[in-house]
Amino acid sequence: MLQAKKLLSVALGLALVAAQANAAPKDGVYKEKVMGLIAPFTVEVTLEGGKIVKVTSNDALESPGVGAEAIKTLGDRIVREQTAGVDGVSGASLTSFAVLQGTRQALKKAGADESFFKRVHEAAVLPETVTSDVVVVGGGGAGLAAAVSALEAGASVTIVEKLGYLGGSTNVCGGAFNASGTSYQKALGIEDNPQKHFDQTMKGGHNTNDPSLVHYLADHATESLAWLESLGLKVNPKVGAATGALYQRSHYPDPAGGHTYIAVLEEALAKYPDRVKVFLETKATSLIEENGRITGVAVESRGKTAKVFGTRGVILSTGGFGANVEFRQKVNTGIWKEANLDKEIGCSNISVAAQGDGLLMAEKVNADLIGLADIQVHPNGTPGTGLMLDIKTSGRNRLFINTNGDRFVDEGAPRDVLSKAVFAQPGQTFWLVQNHLRYPDENKIDLLSGRTMHDMLEQGRVQKAETLEDLAKIMKVDVNRLRASIEEYNRVARHEVETDRFGFRANHTDDRPITEGPYYVARKVPTIHHTMGGIKINTNAEVIDRNGKVIPGLYAAGEVTGGVHGENRLGGNAVADCMVFGRTAGRMAANNK
Ligand SMILES: Cc1cc2nc3c(=O)[nH]c(=O)nc-3n(C[C@H](O)[C@H](O)[C@H](O)COP(=O)(O)OP(=O)(O)OC[C@H]3O[C@@H](n4cnc5c(N)ncnc54)[C@H](O)[C@@H]3O)c2cc1C
Repeated sequence: MLQAKKLLSVALGLALVAAQANAAPKDGVYKEKVMGLIAPFTVEVTLEGGKIVKVTSNDALESPGVGAEAIKTLGDRIVREQTAGVDGVSGASLTSFAVLQGTRQALKKAGADESFFKRVHEAAVLPETVTSDVVVVGGGGAGLAAAVSALEAGASVTIVEKLGYLGGSTNVCGGAFNASGTSYQKALGIEDNPQKHFDQTMKGGHNTNDPSLVHYLADHATESLAWLESLGLKVNPKVGAATGALYQRSHYPDPAGGHTYIAVLEEALAKYPDRVKVFLETKATSLIEENGRITGVAVESRGKTAKVFGTRGVILSTGGFGANVEFRQKVNTGIWKEANLDKEIGCSNISVAAQGDGLLMAEKVNADLIGLADIQVHPNGTPGTGLMLDIKTSGRNRLFINTNGDRFVDEGAPRDVLSKAVFAQPGQTFWLVQNHLRYPDENKIDLLSGRTMHDMLEQGRVQKAETLEDLAKIMKVDVNRLRASIEEYNRVARHEVETDRFGFRANHTDDRPITEGPYYVARKVPTIHHTMGGIKINTNAEVIDRNGKVIPGLYAAGEVTGGVHGENRLGGNAVADCMVFGRTAGRMAANNK
């Protein structure tokens, strides 16, 4: 297991407010069950010598890199401060609430006095100015790739991140990384090359993408994957196809999930302890411009402001704006203009992160913002939240069946086609139906969600049926209609016919007929997933202004940028985008002496 989180010494910059002397509560280990974001978990509070010595959980199923990280951070905070009155971890509010609630309950049982419940606020001790060669604004996937690349090029780097942990929404992503012509594809007999990757990305984006950026992405994805491997990433040899990937070129890390890239990049950062500073819970508020050049960023942390200068460059890597309901409604004049993208529709991203801060800062220094109406709606959100933390939704051998028991779309279609088809179904919802092909062992941990199918069934997030009849009962549809729907798909999967009326083709090495139980089924709804528009950049990741000129000193990478994906992003192209353009931004900024 990677040890990066332990290795990285982050300059949190938080002063501790000394705890007052406490009356002694009763020693012991107190266990309190609380409701987490994903599932209930137990908060264990250990008291020794009248002091809180440990706050932890051994059974939490919270997301790796996010909730799991927050439990650790908050546990440390509580022990440090000797009170349950500390602030939660920014970007993990539900998990924080649960940990604090469990701790309070435990302390009450132990007979702790009111000093163990007093509010303390950690004060920021950011210096008034911080200077390094390169400033990275936003420590998600693109930002960390940029930081490591700038460090490799010899620069000193400061990362400012508004959440209480690194990794942003990249932490919760599926981790699919599209790259062509890889040894993994060759081993499976999959023929691929950058031109094919380019062509499909352009086609998926309805040819509205910037071709120079798409060529750059397709030409550098494979070497960027290899770069991550050189940093310690393990790649699963089974190449897949993320939802709407259009081809079998999605490479997954091992362990699966975006948090693995973050762990690898954090480990790489930790190799440069003298040249990297990380400020968490520190929000960038505006760019600093001096004599026509961007030289730094103004930040705010716990009520204190500071200036962080980058003498060689500033890299914006603040992610998308999918969770900013007001902004997304304002710019929703494109392919979803008939749909209502208000707060009733969820978002799959970490909402505090995906607010579009970088776009708004860049706009103020005259950066060109392009394609803002190109919002990606993913068909596979969880009803109520829009999150995508449960049953595997990506890949093959899963059927989209509506509440009448009918298939209604080619499951291998691009995401805009899939989501439009879902919006046209009764109740704008559908059943995602899978069987044992996807979950051959219910007790095996699905590394993406960190849970087993057994857990998901227990939590009621997925339902199971041994027979088609039972499946039809769960779905409240006519069994013969359901059988006919599945059979239509199976005829293609068995290669009896080349395609069905929706255009589905069994052109993937994993495609199999779905013929027997156990079946696993979950209801799904469209969710806001990605924002393809953003800051205009060139292939050097330099930011372009509204007159078509480079803004000196300013770079951008990842979901904050526009142009790479056009109107519709292919599944698996965003992680590749972050790594390819993040690396480039880091190198370019470091060399901008
Ligand atoms: C559930 C889910 C599954 C996905 N699966 C895949 C997949 O399998 N393959 C794929 O290619 N793509 C996938 N995507 C899309 C992909 O994960 C994202 O597009 C990508 O990770 C974005 O990376 P980023 O670095 O640009 O942004 P992020 O990872 O979100 O990082 C941005 C960071 O900037 C910080 N920030 C924002 N504003 C400020 C500010 N003012 N000051 C300081 N910091 C700030 C944020 O807190 C955040 O940490 C998925 C997305 C989701 C949500």
